[in-house]
Amino acid sequence: MQTIPFSEFGLSAPVMQAIDDIGYEEATPIQTAAIPLLMSGRDVIGQSQTGTGKTAAFAIPAIERLLADCEKGVQVLILCPTRELAIQACEEIRKLTRHIDWIHTAAVYGGQDIERQIRLLRSGVQIVVGTPGRIMDHMRRHTLRLGDVKIAILDEADEMLSMGFRDDIDTIFTDIPQERQTVLFSATMSSEIMEITKLYQTNPEIIRVVRKELTVSEIEQYYYNIPHSHKIEALSRLMDVYHPEPAMIFCNTKKQVDELVSAMQQRGYVAEGLHGDMKQQARDHVMNTFRGGKVDFLIATDVAARGIDISGIGAVFNYDIPQDVEYYVHRIGRTGRAGKSGLAFTFVTGSREMAELRCIMKYTRSEITKGTIPTSEQVMECRRLRFAKKVCASVENEDLSEYMRMVEQLADEGISAIEIAAALLKAEMTSDGRTSMPSEADDFAFAGHEHRFGRNAGSERRDSRDGRRNRRSGDRDKNMVKIYIGLGSSAGIKPGHIVGAVANETGLPGRSIGRIEISDRYSTFDVPQEAAELVINTLNKTRIMGRRVSARLFTEQF
Ligand code: ADP
Ligand code: MG
Repeated sequence: MQTIPFSEFGLSAPVMQAIDDIGYEEATPIQTAAIPLLMSGRDVIGQSQTGTGKTAAFAIPAIERLLADCEKGVQVLILCPTRELAIQACEEIRKLTRHIDWIHTAAVYGGQDIERQIRLLRSGVQIVVGTPGRIMDHMRRHTLRLGDVKIAILDEADEMLSMGFRDDIDTIFTDIPQERQTVLFSATMSSEIMEITKLYQTNPEIIRVVRKELTVSEIEQYYYNIPHSHKIEALSRLMDVYHPEPAMIFCNTKKQVDELVSAMQQRGYVAEGLHGDMKQQARDHVMNTFRGGKVDFLIATDVAARGIDISGIGAVFNYDIPQDVEYYVHRIGRTGRAGKSGLAFTFVTGSREMAELRCIMKYTRSEITKGTIPTSEQVMECRRLRFAKKVCASVENEDLSEYMRMVEQLADEGISAIEIAAALLKAEMTSDGRTSMPSEADDFAFAGHEHRFGRNAGSERRDSRDGRRNRRSGDRDKNMVKIYIGLGSSAGIKPGHIVGAVANETGLPGRSIGRIEISDRYSTFDVPQEAAELVINTLNKTRIMGRRVSARLFTEQF
């Protein structure tokens, strides 16, 4: 789709000046299509995804209309589904009207002191942006009169419907004059939305901005097929090597958000979570700290992050592969905005998720490259480099004489300069809270294990239903070791449980698991020697059929 410079819309000088101040280079596709139509007075249905500049698309024509009419009273009403979106839209509009001293915008939403809002409304505003509940509240109190409204805007209409605001919208519209311009924006279209447009719009023009081209083309996309239990380590390594702060990490569930936030915090990352169960105040706080650069990593669900605009994201991580292909586009569209190229990392586990990934590639017509998780060596190298840079900068730019004297004193006591430096280095490299060095055992899990373990694969056969092996012990088992787990048939364990647990949690292909024997109170199974430690450690952190596993190497005394 064509985009054009703002100068071609015939906008007024103060609006042009404001756009220039903000620094927009040219109109986005939805703006290019919507602004002229809206300025001609048409009703518009606009469909485009988050982050495409819908606010300015409806705000600029609204401001121009205010400028043309020069009237008092609330003339523009914008309905938003959430408080965050209302605040965001209000901020954008205030930026656009900064050179017009008589146009005032108020945001009204639940959770804020209503008296304050009443004072603001009384002081005379022309644009009101708010959430339906609070707007109705003000209507009831007669602190907001809609009798002069000329433009009504439903922003994120689909979200508004899914949040149950349908009746509220009806109520609000009964107070708005029939003679008006009605604008509806939505990321998705549904029959319910079409119904709304039939009720409230007159001969609306539909604008659709094709979803894909806006986002993925300029984003480098990678995927990693890893077991679930290794995602946290993989994420940490990618963060350590790419340093993409600020970055967003998407999970599919609130529970996963909470778990990941505490895991990452424990590892020393400055991470915060955002999901629908959190109190509004907590969400605001997280958003503010993230926007203010005090939080490096925002871990969120799709719903919580919906419509929230944050620019300058260094990378988006799909910790869980998105449930919907469209979500993928939404999620990664947040990185690399405004001409900067972005980075997107997606974790997949198992073949089913790989199939979903292929579907995403097809739908987005984009290449998602198979990435390799950095090795512990590479992670350490990155940390070393970063540290060296810091030291050099300090030596170059700071006055260290006081500290040099202290070092000299220590040296006089017989500690070598290298020892002093090493002790400080250790303190420094662990002071950022990264308690653990990346372990080489994990490297093993990330490396192409299919490959390493595949040697015996061809000669193996197993009953696909229960994972039993036909293989007998012999030469081929030389590299195998026996693992004991404290669960047996009395606990209802079947071979499939063991194969499943080992394959899912460690990523070891099921076929590399050797003979499985299930006794009454315990079971044993063979795995390649080099995988034993990983299997034992991992199983001891997980449960099979809800029970602790108690895995260890099997020795005859059991
Ligand atoms: P949407 O409502 O479609 O999700 P927003 O209106 O919130 O999108 O805008 C998303 C981001 O893009 C904001 O940071 C906004 O300031 C910025 N933006 C809007 N228009 C332009 C433009 N023409 N050029 C560059 N950035 C823009
Ligand atoms: Mg918006």
